[in-house]
This record gives sequence, C-alpha cells and structure tokens, in this order.
Amino acid sequence: MNQNVFVISLDFELLWGVRDKRTRESYGANLLGVRQVIPRLLELFDRYGVNATFATVGFLFAKNKEELLEFVPTDLPRYSADRYSPYANGYMDTVGANEEEDPYHYGSSLIDRILEHPGHEVATHTFSHFYCLEGASIASFEADLAAAQKIAGRKGVELKSIVFPRNQYSQAHIDSCRKAGIIAFRANEQSAVYTPRNNEDQSKVIRAARFLDTYANLTGHHSFVPVETDGIVNIPASRFLRPHTERFSPFDGRKLARIRGSMLHAAKRKQGFHLWWHPHNFGIHIDENIRFLEEILQFYRHLHQEFGMQSKTMRTIAEETLAHGV
Ligand SMILES: [Zn+2]
Repeated sequence: MNQNVFVISLDFELLWGVRDKRTRESYGANLLGVRQVIPRLLELFDRYGVNATFATVGFLFAKNKEELLEFVPTDLPRYSADRYSPYANGYMDTVGANEEEDPYHYGSSLIDRILEHPGHEVATHTFSHFYCLEGASIASFEADLAAAQKIAGRKGVELKSIVFPRNQYSQAHIDSCRKAGIIAFRANEQSAVYTPRNNEDQSKVIRAARFLDTYANLTGHHSFVPVETDGIVNIPASRFLRPHTERFSPFDGRKLARIRGSMLHAAKRKQGFHLWWHPHNFGIHIDENIRFLEEILQFYRHLHQEFGMQSKTMRTIAEETLAHGV
C-alpha cells in the first residue's frame, strides 16, 4: 500500500473544547466564525482533492437540548477538578435549547454539511470532550465513547477514528477504543515536548518549545508510517497548524517553509505527513488562514504529481493498513 499520504485531521468541538479556559465573551468570535470556516474548508478541500478527518465532539450531533441530554451516560467522569466536567457546577444549565439559539454548543447542521462530501470522514473527539489524564475512570471513558457512538449512529455515522481531547491518552484508553471498534487514533508527535501530559504538567518551557518549533526545526519532521497494534492503527500527528496572528505574521514564511520542508521530507521517503488544527483556530482572520492553508494544499498537489503523495482520511489509512499489513 502507498504510505506516502497527506493527512488532515480537525478537532471539531466549538465551545465544548475550550469551555474550561474560555467563554463566549473571550472567544465567541472564533466560535461563531466556524460557521463560515467549515464551508470554506470543504470548498478548498474539494478543489485540491483532499479527504479530511473531522474528529467531532459527540454533543455537537444533538439537534436540541432534549437530544443532547438523552445521550448523556449514567457513568459520568469524575475529574481531579470540577472545571473539566461539563456535567458539574450547573454548566448544562448554560447550554441553550438548540443550534439557532446557541451556536456555541450545537453543530448538527455543520456535520450535515460535512456529510454532503462523502470523501471526508466524520470521526470522534469523544462525546463530552473527555480528558483522559485528569483523574476520571476508564469505565467513565468507555461510557462516554459509547454515548458518542450512539449519537453519531442516529445520523448514520459509524465512528472508526478518534482524536483524544488535549492529546491526552494512555495505553488503557487506546485499548478501550479498540474494544469499541475504533481502528485509528492520532498519537502525538514523537518528541519530549509533545508527550501526553495533564494540564498541570504543561510547563511554560514546553509551550515555548512548541511555539518555536512552528518556525524552526527543533524537534524533527515527524513524518510517519502507520503502525498497527492489535487491530488499532496509530496515525500520529506531524504538525499543528498554528493560526494567523497579526503579531507573528511577519514569520509566516518560516512557518510555511517548516511545514513544506516536512511534507517534502515525508514524500521523498514514501512516508506520511499529518497536519491538524481546530476549525475555531481559523474562526477569526478567516481569509488569512484560508490563504495560508491554500499554500500548503498547492504544495500537496505538487507532491502528489511529483511523488504520488495521496490525501487520505485516518479511517482509509487504517483500513488499508489492517487489510495489507505494514
Ligand atoms: Zn479538543
């Protein structure tokens, strides 16, 4: 099988993914912008023949509050701090009735838009934006995953790939996913600064190293070959696509060169390159972000023609890996 692949995965979460750190007031523009970002991404992906994986929070499938609450599991996560749980501190009372009234917590119409493009994959980012390394039990993780599968099933979506929220996971969580029929997951980049960590352990030094790694090759190219273990395939991240900011836009050329350099490194070795971000990262400065992405996709098209690099979803890569072996 061709392992020279270009993978894009998007952590699609709206406010559920940032609610412990941000509010409608502080981050609302980014979240509302997602309603323009998703159609524009779909249009761009069509134009460049890209098949993306949208790892979607389960709550976003709900059409209204009644449907959302219907799928909430009985075994709720008990984290080391209540702020991680959307079920604690009356948070659910702040969730509106439906997508029209509360576009920060609902995304059913956006999922429908993605599903109109069958080349893409709708995958899971857990039901409740579950944090695997903040003290909750494995049983509550499994209950959360089952809820995600049920609510996606109502739209006819079978979940086959997972992206773990905040990139937190352990081998036990991967085993639970495998038992639940998930065949692909996105591990973190292979470098000490990207090791899965809980919130407490994310030091300023590590954050700074990741930031600098955006512009200069500090940690390597992170090209990959998919690795199967007991029926589940690791399709690790190569690079986070950091969004446009006015302050750092003078360095955009270096950011682009860093990404292209790693894509070329992968293509020459017949390996994969996996780019990821969140749609809300693109929610402001939408034109600048889309323009930057288009430059990456133009380079992908070049690598497709020159080296036969192919854009594939996580699910497709996992299915091919399982069928043919590595
Ligand atoms: Zn997330």
